[in-house]
Amino acid sequence: MHVPTFMRTPLIEDASEFDVALVGVPYDGAVTNRPGARHGPREVRNASTMMRAIHPTTRVNPYERIRVGDGGDVPFTRVYEPEAAHDDIEQFIAGFNRQRVLTLAVGGDHSITLPVLRGLVSDGPVGLIHIDAHTDTWDEFMGSRYNHGAPFRRAVEEGLIDPARTIQIGIRGAQDSTEGWDYSAASGMRVVPMHEVTQSGVEAVAEEALRIVGSGPTYLSFDIDSIDPAYAPGTGTPEIGGLTSVEALILLRALRGVELMGADVVEVAPPFDPTGGTSLIAATVLYELLCLVAEGDESPEGGEA
Ligand code: MN
Ligand code: MN
Repeated sequence: MHVPTFMRTPLIEDASEFDVALVGVPYDGAVTNRPGARHGPREVRNASTMMRAIHPTTRVNPYERIRVGDGGDVPFTRVYEPEAAHDDIEQFIAGFNRQRVLTLAVGGDHSITLPVLRGLVSDGPVGLIHIDAHTDTWDEFMGSRYNHGAPFRRAVEEGLIDPARTIQIGIRGAQDSTEGWDYSAASGMRVVPMHEVTQSGVEAVAEEALRIVGSGPTYLSFDIDSIDPAYAPGTGTPEIGGLTSVEALILLRALRGVELMGADVVEVAPPFDPTGGTSLIAATVLYELLCLVAEGDESPEGGEA
């Protein structure tokens, strides 16, 4: 069947034939201001049709190591309350997890990471590499504890992530309260503000990230607003002074060896970027995540693709 899938991979019909599912999560009902990320998965699929296979620095072809397919979009049944939409997301992700298929999710606003983690984590908290302009450890906003500024606070409370094995990279921008920053620090997360990334360099930051998450299972969440809006304006809450696109690539490549049990790229809001450049960056980030998984894969199934 020919439909425009992520990376032109086969559409997954029988998950038992795959190692990795690229999954769309077209939900933006939990944003604080500008919606649009519900259109992210479609445009990232579109931009990803240009992606090629062999990695430019490692020369590894991830598709020769692992069986990768497009798992489709989360089929939402209830989108008007975040908690209900999050249940839909969790059930869909858990379905792949039960069949031991690793999921790489494309959002969607950042609230989706909480139900993705719920669908993936069953035995104890995992490590987290979180690349974002914002800590997303705020609490309630306008009556909801499940807004896109809160997922990692909820994830700590629910025992899904271990704050001592969490690093947040690229944090910047003014806020109306310090509550989220305070929560990250008090919970024991390592917060690397963007000015420190610039001073230390992304390779040193990646080295520290690998040290902090250690050898255990780790989730990686990439908010596209970590990248400077000069490169990626298509997002709901842009903050200037961010990563360049090449810094983002070098950062991700320097994370080789991390034991990823899942990852996402979120907050791609194509209506704010008619050039399509933001979606191309997101598609490339997705490819780099796929390469991290492929090169970290040591299971007996690896290489049978
Ligand atoms: Mn975020
Ligand atoms: Mn953000």
